[in-house]
Formats: sequence, structure tokens, C-alpha cells
Amino acid sequence: MTHPFLDLPPLSAARFASIEDRVARLLGTGQDVVITQGEALLPLEGAIRGAAGPGTTALNVITGPYGQTFGDWLRDCGATVIDLSVPFHTAVTAEQVRAALAEHPSVDFVSLVHAEAATGNTNPVAEIGAVVREHGALFYLDAVASVGAEPVLPDAWGVDLCVIGAQKAMGGPAGVSAISVSERAWARMAANPRAPRRSYLSLLDWKERWIDGGRRALLHAPAQLEMLALEACLERIEAEGPAAVTARHAAAARATRAGVLALGGGLRPYVHEAAEAAPVATTLRTPDGVAASELVARALESDPSLPLAAGGGALAKEMIRVNHYGPDATPGAVQSSLAALGAALAERGLDVDLHGARRAVEGAWR
Ligand SMILES: *Cc1c(COP(=O)(O)O)cnc(C)c1O
Repeated sequence: MTHPFLDLPPLSAARFASIEDRVARLLGTGQDVVITQGEALLPLEGAIRGAAGPGTTALNVITGPYGQTFGDWLRDCGATVIDLSVPFHTAVTAEQVRAALAEHPSVDFVSLVHAEAATGNTNPVAEIGAVVREHGALFYLDAVASVGAEPVLPDAWGVDLCVIGAQKAMGGPAGVSAISVSERAWARMAANPRAPRRSYLSLLDWKERWIDGGRRALLHAPAQLEMLALEACLERIEAEGPAAVTARHAAAARATRAGVLALGGGLRPYVHEAAEAAPVATTLRTPDGVAASELVARALESDPSLPLAAGGGALAKEMIRVNHYGPDATPGAVQSSLAALGAALAERGLDVDLHGARRAVEGAWR
């Protein structure tokens, strides 16, 4: 019996390389792109362990839970870490980064998350990149939640290590990710005696055995399903046009925000400034006394396919996420999500304007 997922032929090195080239095109980068066969934490951790060591002084920008994780890895590598934290309902500014670098001239590594799906904020990477470049530090960026939802341009922004994943706005599986690596970043890793080698976490292995060898022989058997799915994600984005895809995500975020403000019922945008709200997901704060996880559970009872989730960890009490991942960045998904949340709020006796919310979404989408 044939099955679409089973008995797949091995993916050729040429096909693997062509998918890397398509990722490079999406990112507008001339840097080396390595596709990593694992969830995005694989290249995120591999890049830090490769580039950072006891001689590193890192400025770690924390705008959500992922920034905290990066700080832990950096410390574990022996780096001196300066944390720059901002409240999760805001973004960091280039001025804040500039001030931190001026205060700590020895910083030679800056880590930043572009957009945080977990908190719903997005940071001005282009402006921050200019500041980091001027200082001369290596610039590491987690663009997992931004790629496909907003432009991600490592070369234009001076990013040395840019990690993406397929599972958010690209609408793909969680088991495949990629990283673009600048010449400077390769040199930093090559000079780091503690950089992983002969290890699944090693990016240098891919540089030396795959890229420098002309991308003719893969290091191990490629994960066919994930690679084919990543290729399909890229094809779909290319077919719609990257600008149209990011415009659709921006419209979804704008419309959700407008709809929530019109809906009322005590629900409000979690990120205070619209310009700091991520196009990949709109986070909402629930009214006092209404547990976000319960409201989401009630809304999902009416339609389990809605792109709604409660915040993770402690945020489950007060945060709702309306995800705009790929095919969910549509007027229909936004309308249905707000209608279901509105109905759940009304059940609790809160005053909501469902009609106003609907009109606000329509108006903001245009
Ligand atoms: C989603 C996401 C990742 C990937 O991590 P998961 O634990 O698989 O969700 C990494 N970084 C950021 C900023 C993300 O939003």
C-alpha cells in the first residue's frame, strides 16, 4: 500500500542545497545558509555554543522568554552576560541598545529576538543592527516568529547569525529550521576552541564538511518529510509573493487589534503600542478575574480550529494569543476568533459589541 508519508526515497544533496538556496532568497542574503534538521532551538543553541565562550562579553536583550533562554546558554558557555530587559508589553529601542553598548564597551556579541510569539512584540532590528554594526559586535537574531510574517533581511540589517523556523508564519512543521551565517561569524566559531565539533549542535561541521566541500555530500541522512515540507512552504510563499504574505500578516494583526478595541468586554491588546506589536500573533490581556486559559477553552469549544492559545506559563492567567500563522492570517480567521472570544465574554456577563468588532476588523483589514 502506498502512503504519502512512508517509503520516501532519500533526498539528494542537490535537492537539499536547492532548498538552502531558496531560504537564502527569502532572506535576501548572500551569506551561507545551513538548514538544520530539528526544531529551531537546535541552530539557536548551536550558534551560541559555536560563537560564544569564556572570552565573550554578550549583551543579551530580553523582550520575552526566549531572550532568557539565550542568556542561560551564554552563561553556560562561560560568557560574561549583560542583560538588557524591557517589559514584555513593549519592544526594545535602538537607543536603549546604544546606551547599553556605550556603558559596556567590551561587548562583542549581541543577542536579540526579532518577534516573540509568546509575548506578541516585535523589535526594530534594522535600527538596532545599525547600532550593533557601529559598535562592531557580532549580531545574533532569533527570527523564528518573524520570518514569513514580516521582512527578515540579515544582510541589510547586519545580522551575522539569523535563525528561522518553519513552524510559525511559514505554516510548516516544527522539525526543520535554518540559519544564515556571515563570514565574521564563521571566523569567530573557527577561533573558538569550545565550539561544538563532531556534534549534532555543530555548525562548523556543516561549514567544513558540507559547504567547503561544495555541498556534494550530506553529513547524515536528510529528514525527507521535513525538507519536503520546508520546500513546500517556500514554494507557497514564492507563489503568493513575499510582500503579499507579509502584508496579509500585518493586516491580520492590525485588524485583530482594531477588532478587540471595538469589542470591549475588558479585553485589550497586551502590547501597548501598535508599532511594537508583532504581525505573527496578537496578544491580548484578559479582564481582571477572567482566566485566559478558561476563556480560550470556551472559545475553542465552539470551534476547535480557531488559532487561539492561552499564554505560556504564568501568562496563561492573563494572556490570550490570536495566532496569524500563514493560512490563519485571513479576515475569516480573525473574525471567527473575535466572535468566539466575544461570545465567551458575554456568557460571563461582560458587555461586548460583536457587531462593532466585526465592522472594525473589516475597516482595518483594507
Ligand atoms: C516559537 C519560537 C521559537 C521556537 O520555539 P518553540 O518552543 O518550538 O515554540 C523560537 N524563538 C521564538 C522567538 C519563537 O517565537
